[in-house]
Amino acid sequence: MKALAQCWFTRQHLPDGRPHREEDGSHTSYCRHCEREIVTWDRSRWFLAGGFNVTHLAETVGGRFLFVVDVLEEAMIARYPVQHLPDEVAVDALKADIRAKHGLDQPGSGLELHDSGATPAARRKATRPRRAPNLRSGPSQVSA
Ligand SMILES: [Zn+2]
Repeated sequence: MKALAQCWFTRQHLPDGRPHREEDGSHTSYCRHCEREIVTWDRSRWFLAGGFNVTHLAETVGGRFLFVVDVLEEAMIARYPVQHLPDEVAVDALKADIRAKHGLDQPGSGLELHDSGATPAARRKATRPRRAPNLRSGPSQVSA
């Protein structure tokens, strides 16, 4: 009988060797303890890639994705391509949909939304609570 891997206790997977940089900005590797495929976006926390064939998806679809990861289970649970969206406004709208669909904003949900196309500055910004958009009243928003 195989002993339980160390990461089963520590809940921290560690990459075995040099991580492979994926087309979409994530890094993949195999856990040196449990030998399962793992994926990271910030190269500090690793998540189980689960049934997702990360490399294959990146090759066939390409570009940028939004990922939902379960921090408690350390697993990626959903992946959304954003390649087809026209602009950042549409991406933000999709993010809001995903947050609602998966209940990300519920206390104790343990889920996080990651954006593979986010710049380092945007990643830092995303971890801070967002201020509500400054909506003006009236139809005079578009200046002539
Ligand atoms: Zn592991």
